[in-house]
This record gives sequence, C-alpha cells and structure tokens, in this order.
Amino acid sequence: MQDEDAAKFGEALSSLPGPVLAYCRTGTRSATLWSLHSAATMSMEDILAATSAAGHDMTGIARRVASGGSTPTETGGARFDVVIVGGGASGVSVAASLQTREYGLSIAIIDPADTHYYQPGWTMVVGGVFNAESTANPMGALIPGGVTWIKSAVASFEPEKDAVVLDGCRVVKYDRLVVCPGLKLDWDGVEGLTDTLGRNGVTSNYRYDLAPYTWELVQSLNKGRALFTQPPMPIKCAGAPQKALYLSGDAWTRRGVIDDIEIEFCNAVGVLFGVKDYVPALERYIDKYGAQLNFFHNLVAIDGEAKKSLV
Ligand SMILES: Cc1cc2nc3c(=O)[nH]c(=O)nc-3n(C[C@H](O)[C@H](O)[C@H](O)COP(=O)(O)OP(=O)(O)OC[C@H]3O[C@@H](n4cnc5c(N)ncnc54)[C@H](O)[C@@H]3O)c2cc1C
Repeated sequence: MQDEDAAKFGEALSSLPGPVLAYCRTGTRSATLWSLHSAATMSMEDILAATSAAGHDMTGIARRVASGGSTPTETGGARFDVVIVGGGASGVSVAASLQTREYGLSIAIIDPADTHYYQPGWTMVVGGVFNAESTANPMGALIPGGVTWIKSAVASFEPEKDAVVLDGCRVVKYDRLVVCPGLKLDWDGVEGLTDTLGRNGVTSNYRYDLAPYTWELVQSLNKGRALFTQPPMPIKCAGAPQKALYLSGDAWTRRGVIDDIEIEFCNAVGVLFGVKDYVPALERYIDKYGAQLNFFHNLVAIDGEAKKSLV
C-alpha cells in the first residue's frame, strides 16, 4: 500500500457524501489507508486510539510514518525460526512436519482466513460421499499446538531483510521463510462463466459452495449430455476434473442411466495425466463410461441460458 493510495483514499473521503463506508475483508486495509491519510492532519496518538477502538492495531503505521513513509524492516514486531505464509493444506502440513523433525523450533503461520478448506474433499462432495461442511474447519483448530498463528495477510516480502510486512504495516522477521498462499482461480478467464456458475446446469468442483450443486446435477440427470472440462496448467490438482467425470459415471451406472448420457471430456492439454503409469488405468474408465475424449480442447466461453459452450 503506497502513499499514493492513501492520497486517493483522502480524495475519495473529501469528495464523497458522508458517512463513507470503507470495506475490505477484515477492515485492516481500510484502517491502514485511513491512518496513512489521517497522519497529515491528526496526531499518531489519536490515530492509534481511533483504530484501536475499532479493533485494529496500527502501531506498524506509526513506525512507517515515523520513518518518513516506508516501513522499516530492520527490526520486527516478532521473530521466528520459520515463518510460513498460508495455512492451507501445505502450510499446516509443513508446520507439523518441521515440528516433528526439530522440537523447539519457533514457527509461525500467517493467514487471515477464519476457515481452512480441505479442497481434495470437494471431489468426494461431488461424488455424494462427503458433506461439504465436513471439508471446512476453523483455522485455529488445525494449526498444530505450539505453532503461532498470526491472523493477518502478508502484503509484501522483504527477502534481503528476512522480513515480511503484513497488512497494517506490521513486520515479522524470520530465519527461514516458506511461501504457500495457494493458487488464485481465474473465473473470468472463461467468458460468461461467472454469470452462470451455480445455475443453468453449470458448476465447478473448485468451489466449496458449488461442489454440492455438482452432486445435485449428477443426481437429477437421467439423459442428455454432460460436458466435463479441464483447463491448461497451472491448475489445482490435475486429476480433479477427471475424478468428477469418473464419479459421475459411477453414479449414473449405479442408477442404470449411463447408456442415456453422452459424456464428453474436453482437455486443454494432449495427455490424460502427467504421470504416464496412471494413464492406462484412467483410459479404462474413459472407455467404461463411453466418454468421448477431446484433447487440446479448452473451454473459452459459455452461454448458460442457451446451454452452449465454446471450446
Ligand atoms: C476439487 C479439488 C480436488 C483436489 N484434489 C487433490 C488431490 O486429490 N490431491 C492433491 O494433492 N491435491 C488436490 N487438490 C489440490 C489441493 O487444493 C491442494 O493440494 C491443496 O489443498 C492446496 O493447498 P495450499 O495450502 O497450497 O493452498 P490453499 O489450501 O489454497 O491455502 C492457501 C492459504 O493461503 C492463504 N493466503 C493467501 N494469500 C495470503 C497472503 N497474502 N498472506 C497470508 N495468507 C495468504 C489463504 O487464506 C489460504 O488459507 C485438489 C483441489 C481441488 C479444488
């Protein structure tokens, strides 16, 4: 967050009819912008008191303002042997593994999320095996005992100073840094997709709220055409799009409707799976469910109302 951002925030505050509602996930970024903007006209003591009353610790801003505009990273609010960015499956398992190998390491996981999602479980949700709720757990319950959870987002990295800067300009120092913030999904990469996701028979297993809808669609389809797609790398789990196909094929076989359902699998790449040894077994499932396999077919646009897609 740069001083220019704070200046723009100030312009918005003075030009908009009040009261102005600033919104971000936790309020920290809004409070940071407000504090940086207000530093020109208010005492830091008053800024800290106002933000503290709203539940935000802006002491990092005070250090930034005192140092003339950039966050000083020579010292930090906290220091750990290992800092892990992200408390997903990777972050939590790295922390647990390190702790087991070397007792006494000081480890911190930095993650602003309240909820940890066990994403591979969504495959089981779309197959009707798991409830979606069983894949969502409070983050605090999964952080290994003895590991410090810093509930904040990393805003920038300062590798030369062995430091990360959090939202609100707090500084955390480390001896070793592990970065695992996951992948950000690009829903807008497919034209028309966001308008129709969750309705018109269009779904994705890559979202917690949509995985149950996939299972609903599988259960309600008795005849017709089911199109499964797999985008090019990088994607989360190269197997996930196919697992949806195989589990759906299994459900339709059990219900005795498989012969009335035309399955098509459009894969953006030219191979069923990157690990060659698995391919023959997967091909057997493609054959078993009579699926038509289209390599180098990437979904680029979708018209949900018309039930048409462009690959
Ligand atoms: C349907 C589906 C099926 C899958 N099946 C499999 C499977 O069978 N096998 C397999 O190995 N993998 C599978 N995957 C891939 C699976 O998602 C990953 O293996 C794993 O869940 C990814 O964990 P992660 O910790 O890297 O990322 P995530 O679980 O996405 O966690 C990233 C965390 O980083 C945090 N974060 C993001 N930005 C910041 C920041 N700036 N500061 C601090 N924290 C931040 C987020 O809040 C989040 O909690 C599947 C994925 C899906 C969607």
